[in-house]
Amino acid sequence: MTREILKNDSRETAVVTGGGSGIGRATAIRLAQDGFRVLVVDRDAKALAGMKAGLDGALAITCHEVDVCDRLAMCRLLDDEARLDVMVCAAGIGQMLPFDAITDQDFRAMLEVNLLGVFIGAQEASRRMKAGGRIVTISSRAAIGGGGFAHYVAAKAGVVGLTRAMAIDLRGKSIAVNSVAPGFTETGITRALTPEQHAKFSALEPSGHPADPAEIANAVSFLASPKTSFITGQTLFVDGGKSVGSLLL
Ligand code: NAP
Repeated sequence: MTREILKNDSRETAVVTGGGSGIGRATAIRLAQDGFRVLVVDRDAKALAGMKAGLDGALAITCHEVDVCDRLAMCRLLDDEARLDVMVCAAGIGQMLPFDAITDQDFRAMLEVNLLGVFIGAQEASRRMKAGGRIVTISSRAAIGGGGFAHYVAAKAGVVGLTRAMAIDLRGKSIAVNSVAPGFTETGITRALTPEQHAKFSALEPSGHPADPAEIANAVSFLASPKTSFITGQTLFVDGGKSVGSLLL
């Protein structure tokens, strides 16, 4: 469907950043199936083209090449919309590095996309939402700790903190802000791991395998629903129970 046709659509509108791949892609499809009109935002033109090519034409999804760190580009996209009901901030990057090898540049790049990008998307969305709007950030189980990617852990702990702070600051506007914290999930980020790393992380999951992105999308769908707008400031871990503790007595 074209954006012009969809502009006159009365359905609730959702924006999903990082929607060209992995968790964002599964979320965009799920929200469209839930009845939203969905704008997919991603910086990866190839991923967007793949998404478009594989779409069921009946779903109200349009794709937009925007970098979430580019506030002006994000504003241009959102200003062109008559309404905004849901913002899902899923765009993110991953990188495995021993603590001693992380450079200032690595650290800044991680915070730039995974934390500043969430802040920009959520802030611009909140400025355009009416009462009842919902913002869902994608943090990570790594927010509670993890070895071999300290800069990622720091950024994701920041996303949880930002989510809680936004929930308080946006309470007066009746905008709900929550986070979904996935565990190890089969996506572009995990496919970039070496086979050895992938096998090691899979073995550490209670299920023994990565989650399907659709499992994460289920949780986002719940928090994006107008029926759950009384829930705010929460982080929902979707990680097969790994964050709760060891399975061994
Ligand atoms: P993915 O398949 O790589 O999808 C992420 C998408 O976001 C990619 O298309 C990526 O494009 C895009 N992106 C990155 N930086 C962007 C930017 N500045 N502006 C716009 N788009 C950008 O990875 P994923 O696992 O689904 O990641 C989605 C979210 O889930 C991330 O926030 C990630 O940290 C989080 N998460 C993932 C896991 C997991 O195990 N997969 C676990 C916990 C949390 P590029 O390809 O160009 O980078």
